[in-house]
Amino acid sequence: MSICPAADQAKGPFSLPELPYAKDALAPVITANTLDFHHGKHHNAYVVNLNKLIENTELVSLSLEEIIKKVAGNAEKAGVFNNAAQVWNHTFYWHSMKPNGGGKPTGKLAEKIDASFGGYDKFREAFVTAATTQFGSGWAWLVQDGATLKVVKTSNAEVPFTSGAIPLITIDVWEHAYYLDFQNRRPDYVNAWLDKLVNWDFAAANLQG
Ligand code: MN
Repeated sequence: MSICPAADQAKGPFSLPELPYAKDALAPVITANTLDFHHGKHHNAYVVNLNKLIENTELVSLSLEEIIKKVAGNAEKAGVFNNAAQVWNHTFYWHSMKPNGGGKPTGKLAEKIDASFGGYDKFREAFVTAATTQFGSGWAWLVQDGATLKVVKTSNAEVPFTSGAIPLITIDVWEHAYYLDFQNRRPDYVNAWLDKLVNWDFAAANLQG
């Protein structure tokens, strides 16, 4: 069973998923120019590379999540892991945003954030800290770990679900995610993302139990 059907693909060869909104719908925080490169070039390159690496191997019959779990930690399969996880991470990231998103979560998700962090403001502080202190390329995540929600950060292509946590939402903090719009100002990107783009409906839909 998929951790997140919206980010998984049933089996290879894999395709570049459509963005779940128009390319200019996230502007001015994330412009169409950024999405042209980030989705059309970076995400697409991970898909193309992954398909080459799994062609004529047993991996092509597995889903994206199954491939990621199978090759995680295997140094000889690092290329497969990096490209498969980056395909998954980017699809999950596109869904973690929506036009006119942002603000505070509601309902069961808000209750879990209050119980886990001591309120939205404390969650936000933890998320901004993770996203801005991830050294070099990586991701910041809100994850579910049993009954508790946590903020974690991962390097390069790493995903939280290989160590058992369920991803609820992620922000890409590789420079290619924000450099055309914010240059070196990563904190401004992270704060604008939380104010204007974060898709709490998607996070709530990923809650389990
Ligand atoms: Mn990226």
